[in-house]
Amino acid sequence: MSKVLVILETAGGQIRPHSLSGITCAAEIARATGKPLHLLVLGAHPDAAAQAIAAAGYGAAAVHTLAGPTLEPFTAEAWADAIVHAARTLGASVIGGTASSTLRDALPRAAAILDAPLVSEVVKVKSGDTFVRPISAGRALQDQKVNAGTFFFTARGTEFEHAQPTGAVPVQPLAPAAANTRGAVVQGVQKTESSRPQLTEAKVIVSGGRGMREGANFKVLEQLTDLLGGALGASRAATDAGMVPADLQVGQTGKIVAPELYFAVAISGAIQHLAGMKGSKTIVAINKDAEAPIFQVADYGLVGKWEEAVPRLVELIKAR
Ligand code: FAD
Repeated sequence: MSKVLVILETAGGQIRPHSLSGITCAAEIARATGKPLHLLVLGAHPDAAAQAIAAAGYGAAAVHTLAGPTLEPFTAEAWADAIVHAARTLGASVIGGTASSTLRDALPRAAAILDAPLVSEVVKVKSGDTFVRPISAGRALQDQKVNAGTFFFTARGTEFEHAQPTGAVPVQPLAPAAANTRGAVVQGVQKTESSRPQLTEAKVIVSGGRGMREGANFKVLEQLTDLLGGALGASRAATDAGMVPADLQVGQTGKIVAPELYFAVAISGAIQHLAGMKGSKTIVAINKDAEAPIFQVADYGLVGKWEEAVPRLVELIKAR
């Protein structure tokens, strides 16, 4: 029987939390199509993570591993080959995962190799072949019906709950296959070392925009972030200006986030920024311009300068 196959990402021998949303979306597709759910862990040494995932099960029939020296560090080219190999070996006809930067890169390539369609950024599963997804930077939602025997999907992580442990399932290693990097060479990996939570996993995010003027001014946002145990974010204008690293960018072409609490400080609220954060449960905007569009989506708004508002907020929180 054909299968629904979810590609998982791992770190430190554990599943990355955002991958749990992809499992939930895939489980809904599995239920709607009557196909069994299978999980796949790729990497140079995927066994430890696969064992941990298999102990939780997450409603899957099995966890598969595919090991190969070219699968770490990540290149979309090698991962696409490996995903295609796994899909063919297992006879999977629905293949996908969470719309992370990794899978947004690898899955379209795998789909192209198999000449199969890909439904991106699924926010709702309507049936086994019809999905809701945002278009026009989130201004509208589209129902997309897939008319193909095999298709790929990416699930928007903020729209699906994390899959819960259901009980142990077996780990079934797949025979390795050549995963070709097609000339792509990773020359180095620059990791931002931070004790803060990942942007996509944080419950609180404090983001700064162009109005912060320079990187040094983000220090005050970092104080607020750390007091609240959150993650630091930024608008594209702030990352493009080099105020903070590009991996902090929230928005259509950055990270899609939906924390419990989102601070937008000196951010105007352009549609491309809103596309990445408007699913946040509570939005607080601080902006000196009362007409800034961010106030249209904010639950709490403060019209004022960050230079006064943020240090005062930090003081008040410290005093509690
Ligand atoms: P501005 O729009 O310049 O706003 C700065 C704000 O700071 C203003 O509202 C101003 O009133 C306020 N301000 C200034 N000084 C102070 C002060 N002292 N105190 C308080 N407030 C102050 N943008 C993203 O963020 N994420 C994306 O993923 C993204 N993707 C894009 C994709 C495409 C294809 C395109 C075309 C654009 C994209 N953009 C994205 C860019 C987006 O259109 C905006 O240009 C950007 O979000 C603006 O950033 P900003 O709000 O920080 O800057």
